[in-house]
Amino acid sequence: MKIISVNSGSSSLKFQLYQMPEETVIASGQVEKIGFKDSVCTLKHNGEIRKETLAVKNHTQAAKLIIDGLINEQVLTSMQEINGVGHRIVQGGEVFDRSTLVNKKVIEQILILGEMAPLHNYAHVEAINGFLKVLPDIPHVVVFDTTFHQTMKADAYMYSTPYEWYLNYGIRKYGFHGSSHKYVSEKTNELLKLENSKVIVCHIGNGASLSAVVNGKCVDTSMGFTPLEGIPMGTRTGSLDPAILSYMEKKLNVSSDEMYEILNKKSGYLGVSQLSSDARDLEEAAFRGHKQAILAFELQAKRIADYIGSYYVYMGGLDAVSFTAGIGENSPYLRKLVLERLKVLGVLIDEEANNNNRLLISSPDSKVKIYVIKTNEELVIARDTMAFIKNNNIV
Ligand code: ADP
Repeated sequence: MKIISVNSGSSSLKFQLYQMPEETVIASGQVEKIGFKDSVCTLKHNGEIRKETLAVKNHTQAAKLIIDGLINEQVLTSMQEINGVGHRIVQGGEVFDRSTLVNKKVIEQILILGEMAPLHNYAHVEAINGFLKVLPDIPHVVVFDTTFHQTMKADAYMYSTPYEWYLNYGIRKYGFHGSSHKYVSEKTNELLKLENSKVIVCHIGNGASLSAVVNGKCVDTSMGFTPLEGIPMGTRTGSLDPAILSYMEKKLNVSSDEMYEILNKKSGYLGVSQLSSDARDLEEAAFRGHKQAILAFELQAKRIADYIGSYYVYMGGLDAVSFTAGIGENSPYLRKLVLERLKVLGVLIDEEANNNNRLLISSPDSKVKIYVIKTNEELVIARDTMAFIKNNNIV
């Protein structure tokens, strides 16, 4: 069975073509700068990369380019070879507690939820409609970033805001990066081989979030109503005293939309360091002794450790912490800053393993196992799509 896993943004569309159930990537690629005259279409197959610059008007044209490219490059003999398409959707609200088949009602619901995630859900629907036009006769499945976190209890997902905010406007914690937290917590459980497990996943990339997972089920996560809550990130503040917003809106004479932009795009690593949002740039500066770059990492590490401490108490113990995503997988420096703060939990680092990004980076006498696990959100989408097709006897 061949499944395409799609991750779309407002001006980009990334895909991976999987052979399932073998889980091998046959081809991958992306269309960037959709809507511009100089859109870039990239296709990777058999170790070769083909790049083309051309005007791509919209997501439908992008979807068509991808399928035509796969046929032209003889990755596929025809589009009939594709059995299903899995689409990543950022916000599934409380409506979607599992992946589901795309139909008119599902699309309408994703658009309604788009009010809570305007930067994402509307673009996802553009991509779904694009692929539906190009591949109308096969199942399309939507896989939500929020689904994995739907197992949280009310004491973890509710805010102490007026209750009618929740009832009337859906104000609660939803959590994001769900496919990554699912994938990495499952891998961690495979490694732990315990009957009962308490795991924390630290997804530290440009966007960053933690999740607490008991026996494979998420019980808490650091992102909230939107991906702005939680630990400081590349350009996002993470949690802060909400009173700062109206105070600084007045001081800077900016609107609440402009303030929201500052909190999302000009804060985090970038805001604190005044240098860069990119961890590699910041590490270089930190190693040269740049004080604000060091502070940016220390602020983040302290907050990560805060969450780990609170999850330890909430779960009543901890078997493993797994680091993943761009920084979690590749930065011994950030991991060490976090792990040094966890000594009280009996965490001991194997320095050599940490410096080499090994799978297990805790020393044998550590009370908690510490892993570095490469995430794979696209595979979770392909797996869910295949499972949906099989369970519903669609093929
Ligand atoms: P996202 O998917 O949220 O855009 P990624 O998971 O791709 O983010 O992570 C991007 C971050 O990972 C960037 O800050 C980048 O600098 C960082 N990163 C990638 N490789 C390394 C590395 N070798 N050392 C430190 N940081 C790295």
